[in-house]
Parts: sequence; structure tokens; C-alpha cells
Amino acid sequence: MTGSLVIVGTGPGRPELMTPAAQLALAGANDLVGYGPYLDRVPLRRGQCRHVSDNRAELERARHALTLAASGRDVAVVSGGDPGVFAMAAAVFEAVEAGDPAWRSLDIRVEPGVTAMLAAAAEVGAPLGGDFCAISLSDNLKSWATIERRLTAAAKADFVIALYNPASKARPHQLAQAFALLRSVKMQTTPVLFVRAAGTTEAKVVASSLAGADASLADMRTLIIVGASTTRRVGRWIYTPRSERDVAA
Ligand code: SAH
Repeated sequence: MTGSLVIVGTGPGRPELMTPAAQLALAGANDLVGYGPYLDRVPLRRGQCRHVSDNRAELERARHALTLAASGRDVAVVSGGDPGVFAMAAAVFEAVEAGDPAWRSLDIRVEPGVTAMLAAAAEVGAPLGGDFCAISLSDNLKSWATIERRLTAAAKADFVIALYNPASKARPHQLAQAFALLRSVKMQTTPVLFVRAAGTTEAKVVASSLAGADASLADMRTLIIVGASTTRRVGRWIYTPRSERDVAA
């Protein structure tokens, strides 16, 4: 049996933002495994099977994909954005580490995709032009204390901060708490960008200051970028200069 498993990043939404390599990987699979809305974006060719699963059942989905690959199928696990950013690629390797030792010799590879923070940054200019970091606000897999410690450290180090998973129905208050924490460290005038459905035809941007940032604007399809001290506006764009010296001077 020589099955294979590829974890494919489909990008933020617009088909043009999926790489040709990702498209080839999807076309070559017998089985497509993933969360329904991501799978819906992928055209099904004749003979391909779809295995739709719940968004939260990531480990179970990973085990299912590994079991199919071990039985000789060519399997593609579909992930939005990049599969290595808060997504399925790590879930697959977690399942490999905890699972059947034979899974370690499977043919497993990862096809990268345009992650949400890159698509979001491109909607507004170049806010990630200096040093930046990405933090998921979801406390499904880590404690809120860990998230607060990382937010504080990132704010003190003056990174631009991309916030993934800013809010969901189960967690409506955490973003407000995160903003309160950031306000205690960073300048109140720091630009904050809410980018919803980045890299799709419905993309929407709201720019505000840290002082005025309204947490209720965010949902599960929003990526938030909190600027560094040098992040600024020029014309209708927002960017972070590459230099920490004042480039306009
Ligand atoms: N693997 C994905 C991220 C999964 S975490 C990636 O690389 O993009 C899910 C979070 O990503 C969402 O809650 C949201 O914060 C962000 N996200 C995903 N797609 C997005 C999009 N098109 N626009 C804005 N944010 C998005």
C-alpha cells in the first residue's frame, strides 16, 4: 500500500489566491477531507470522494485522513489560508505523534497557502512591513493566562500583532479584554485594523485607533492587526516602515 497525504492551503478565499501547486495537489487526490465551507470552495472531479467534518473535530479529521492514506488512498486535507497557521498541518502531526507508529513512514507533505494576515495586510497597504507576530485568541487549546502573557510580551516588544480567532459565539468578551490589556502597554493612537473576509470579493476594512477599537466589530472571519509604534497612515494606506528611524524626517 502506498497511499499519501497532502495538507493543502486553499488561501483566504478568492480562487486566484490559491497556488497552482495547491490546485494540482487537490486534483491529484482520491479523497478530500475537510471542514464543509472549505471543501465547498474546491471543485470536485469525477471519482473523488468528499469527507466533510465539523470545524472543531480537527484531531479526529486528521486521524481519519491518516487512516485513509494508510489504506492506500491519496488523500488531501483541505485547510483555509495556510495549513500550518493555526490549522490542520499541526493537527495531522499531532495525530502522527500520538497514533499508529506506521503513520510515521507515510508519504505526508504540506502545500502552503496565503494566510489571512498576509491577505489582510494587502487590503490596507503594508502594516507587516516591520517585525510582527501572530497570536490566536482562541483558548480552546491554551489558557487565557498564556494568551495574556504573550499579548503583553508582544506589546512590550513593539511588534505589529496579527490577531487570529478574535471572537466567536462561544467567546464574545475576550477581544475586549485583549484590547484593554494592549491599551495598558501601547500608545492609545496605535492603528488597529479590522479586516473581514480578506482576499475575497466581500473584503471589508475598518481602521481605528487602539483607544477607539470596538471589539464588537470582529467575528470569526475577521483578522485584526494592531500596529507597532511606527505604524502609520500615508494617503489611504496604512504601513509600517522597514526602518525604526523616522523615515519621513
Ligand atoms: N489557517 C488559516 C487560519 C485559521 S484560524 C489561515 O492561514 O488563514 C481562523 C481565523 O483566521 C479566523 O477566525 C480569522 O481570524 C482568520 N481568517 C481566516 N480567513 C480569513 C479571511 N479571509 N479574512 C480575515 N480573517 C480570516
